[in-house]
Amino acid sequence: MKRDHGPAEPGRYVLVAALIATLGTMPEAHPSTRARGALSQVEGQNVRQAIQQDPACQSLTPAAAGGPLPRNDDTLVVRWLGHTNYELAYRGNVFLLDAYYERLPRSHPIGLAPAAITRATAIFIGHAHFDHMADAGSVAARTGAAVVGASFARDVLSKAGVPARQFIAVKGGERQEWPGVTADAVLGHHNVIASTVPEGFLERQQGALQAAALQTPLSEAETKQAEAVRARGSRDPGIATAGVVNYLLTFDGRFRVLFADSPGPITGAERAIAQQVPGVDVAMLPYVNFEAGIPPLVDLATTFKPATVFLGHHDGAGTMLWASNYPAAYAIRRVLPQTRTLDVLYRTPVCFNTTTRDMVIGW
Ligand SMILES: [Zn+2]
Repeated sequence: MKRDHGPAEPGRYVLVAALIATLGTMPEAHPSTRARGALSQVEGQNVRQAIQQDPACQSLTPAAAGGPLPRNDDTLVVRWLGHTNYELAYRGNVFLLDAYYERLPRSHPIGLAPAAITRATAIFIGHAHFDHMADAGSVAARTGAAVVGASFARDVLSKAGVPARQFIAVKGGERQEWPGVTADAVLGHHNVIASTVPEGFLERQQGALQAAALQTPLSEAETKQAEAVRARGSRDPGIATAGVVNYLLTFDGRFRVLFADSPGPITGAERAIAQQVPGVDVAMLPYVNFEAGIPPLVDLATTFKPATVFLGHHDGAGTMLWASNYPAAYAIRRVLPQTRTLDVLYRTPVCFNTTTRDMVIGW
């Protein structure tokens, strides 16, 4: 979250980068950033300069849409692509986490049309609800990317023309490998926030926000578009307990990225993997339903103890439906003072050196 220094400004993030650059010298740095102690401050600066000069860290164009791939073998480029969509570019691989780009009417434009995506190594689906996979089928069919996800996604993908051999169905516990990258599937759980608030609260909250947003009713064309988008997902009730899969991606055996797209109660599998790994460097965590979504988000953060958190799922239409990340970020900081929560614009490259763990917010 831009380090407390006021709201996000458009344009370059030089100030943020400079502030973050000082973090490594702080005595209470996160365990996963301590490895950098071996590097002198000058070397650290050189590493950050090198990252900054990488074209992939200077472009707003995702690698999936023809943007530059990172030049350095140790550079991992992370981009938030709206909602719980992310792109990870590393050593010629382009991984897409969730795929929901053509969203419901009046969503903020991500600046990435599904048709613009021409390159993807694999798409990881966190769960098969439409707002996590609506565009996975068309992207996989065009790029030939493997799709990894729970079986609930199978029918939606096949309807979009994805050959069965491209789909890797997982239940949790499986491992996939690409050059320099392993991906472990971990069974999660769909959020149960509705059961933690008074009956009808979420509906009343949505109604109040919609009224405050001064949105006019959807036009006929918008209604049709919404129906088409919603149809590109599954409503199978089994998704709640058997269809939410987190992914732990490990780069070169040392840099760990955890992706979760629904803040459900912590599962035994999540607890087990959190105990197995020495630390998660980056976690993409979902922030849903405003206030009521903060406790389950914090539970995920305390389970995985990431050094850096990206938040997603909070970017509803207009200003009333876009939940500010600040309250969620402060809640995380209260329990994990060494964790930094980022708030970045769509498509901004956030670059990590997977050896030194230096981070530069590019562009
Ligand atoms: Zn869902």
